[in-house]
Amino acid sequence: APVAFDRFMKIILAAPRGFCAGVHMAIDSLSLTLQKFGPPVYVYHEIVHNQFVVNEFQGKGAVFVNAVDEVPRGSVLMFSAHGVSPEIRQAAKERELFAIDATCPLVTKVHLEAIKYAKAGYTIILIGHEGHDEVLGTMGEAPEAIVLVEDEADVDALQFPEGTRLAYLTQTTLSVDDANRVISRLRSRFPEIESPPKEDICYATQNRQEAVRKLSDEADVVVILGSQNSSNSQRLRELAAEKGQRAFLVDGPQDLSEEQFQLDDTVLISAGASAPESVVQSVIEWLQQRFDASVEPREIRKEDVRFPLPKPLREYAKEAK
Ligand code: SF4
Repeated sequence: APVAFDRFMKIILAAPRGFCAGVHMAIDSLSLTLQKFGPPVYVYHEIVHNQFVVNEFQGKGAVFVNAVDEVPRGSVLMFSAHGVSPEIRQAAKERELFAIDATCPLVTKVHLEAIKYAKAGYTIILIGHEGHDEVLGTMGEAPEAIVLVEDEADVDALQFPEGTRLAYLTQTTLSVDDANRVISRLRSRFPEIESPPKEDICYATQNRQEAVRKLSDEADVVVILGSQNSSNSQRLRELAAEKGQRAFLVDGPQDLSEEQFQLDDTVLISAGASAPESVVQSVIEWLQQRFDASVEPREIRKEDVRFPLPKPLREYAKEAK
């Protein structure tokens, strides 16, 4: 006899999710640069931290490099959304590369703050993840003036001479909750510490975290689309896991297995700022084929942020339309 199903899988599809304005701009920039100049176009580090995006661009002739001296003289070099230090810009100039800068303006904001505070004689405490591309770029603006802290224990270990003027900045893609803990520790140890008028954690990071925070209570399992080296995607997975949910960070359906789900699960799906919508849709299809899942989109906030293309591409973008 046929089995009567009275239990079905439900998918809650979180929004905002996926590409932010900075990632849109960086991806459009690289596509246009490939069209305008033809391959190879060199890119300093991954254009955005997503495997799918990086593989696609490699197929179209983008070459991702870890050092400027890997780039042949006179080539086109793009700086990724995460930004670069002045040292890298200088190296590109010396090598006579045609540099196109796809740094997200919200990362540039943090660079400018670092320069401003350093020029005014402050010691800057940067809250961020060691080794992350963005952190390397920001620290490079004023290496002698910036100290990196990752957590509250790092704050406790800080020592400064009497009279040191302090300011803090943060990486754009931190966990809002973690950053607040570190900031309140900083404020209690150094009550005079200053900070920029507008916080550095970007709107996209905040909105994606807010959506997962609000919606994960209704779910049994949370699937975040994004690559393992994507900081903001990792934070989304952690947020759900801290709330006690089964939470997975995956590049696509190839990273999932049926055993991870029950027939009557409610599955919350979201995506980090560098994950394309196509991988979200392929996970939804994968779940629908196996569990007959229904999809309920939930938008907790509207986003309409857009960033301009890098200057050298603006005219071309108009012509190419
Ligand atoms: Fe810019 Fe935020 Fe997107 Fe990073 S996550 S590229 S800072 S908008």
